[in-house]
Amino acid sequence: MRGVVMYGPRDVRVEQREKPTITKSTDAVIKIAATCICGSDLWPYRGTDSVHESPMGHEYVGVVEEIGSDVKNVKGGDFVVGSFMASDNTCEICQAGYQSRCVHVVPMGQFGTQAEYALVPHADGTLVATPGQPDADLIPALLAASDVLGTGWFAAVAAEVGPGKTVAVVGDGAVGLLGILAAKQLGAQRIIAMSRHADRQELARKFGATDIVEERGDDGVARIKELTNGLGAHSTIEAVGTQESMMQAIRSTRAGGHVGYVGVSHDVALPGEELFFSGVHLHGGPAPVRRFLPELIQLIWDRAIDPGAVFDLTLPLEDAAEGYRAMDERRATKVLLTV
Ligand SMILES: [Zn+2]
Repeated sequence: MRGVVMYGPRDVRVEQREKPTITKSTDAVIKIAATCICGSDLWPYRGTDSVHESPMGHEYVGVVEEIGSDVKNVKGGDFVVGSFMASDNTCEICQAGYQSRCVHVVPMGQFGTQAEYALVPHADGTLVATPGQPDADLIPALLAASDVLGTGWFAAVAAEVGPGKTVAVVGDGAVGLLGILAAKQLGAQRIIAMSRHADRQELARKFGATDIVEERGDDGVARIKELTNGLGAHSTIEAVGTQESMMQAIRSTRAGGHVGYVGVSHDVALPGEELFFSGVHLHGGPAPVRRFLPELIQLIWDRAIDPGAVFDLTLPLEDAAEGYRAMDERRATKVLLTV
């Protein structure tokens, strides 16, 4: 089969890889219908994370091709969505809703879903079948659910977004934008998107942002305070993962408020004394997307939300290298790869 392999920074190739086969009775193999490039794939692409001949990709939707003998919840031919973390969905951690930290967790990134087929461990716990075969125009939205929508949704839930609340969103990548969509669905009264890019501001407004703040760092925090009677937001979504973005999120939040952080943390060090006196709640981490999948799939199926709008470039799998370039150069927010 064809699949994406990253050999080193800015060296992405599409080449022949071995087609996966069932190795455990709880596995499934799926034929990928669509996959995509994640903002987190840019960390190794830019050389921040080390990489050497790694298969790439952890987002996927597709059709079940083959199942192991113990798989009961999905069958051959089902169209399925799964999280970027495979989980059994039965252990205590999963049952508490934290499937991305399952005691048997298997990160899907190691298999590289930017390919024609993917192995899915813990198929019963990981995969959720859609109500039927989706119309082609729903596939981008379902694909978004496998990571960026689920992650933005978790960020909003972790930030305790709810009716009447003012939400600030730090980060205008796909996750931040879909955090806006989630905040709107969860009833936020006011949603302040922090973005300096005109195209992303437009998408932010489409997803439900009521205000845009272009300033960053201390100036951005000052603008959030101005917009909230000097108090700060009730709920802040952090969707970047840098020291600057994390501090911007904490400082934009009022005492007693909540920060939901989902940007993959890179060298973030929180100053204890400032954290102590901030009085904010911090909750985040790798999103337990599996917790939200049934609800998100239904919202998409009913066409109540369209997270697929976050994809602004679609390329065939063979052109993955151009997709990485486009995201790296910010010519694209999120690239969908057709298979
Ligand atoms: Zn588990």
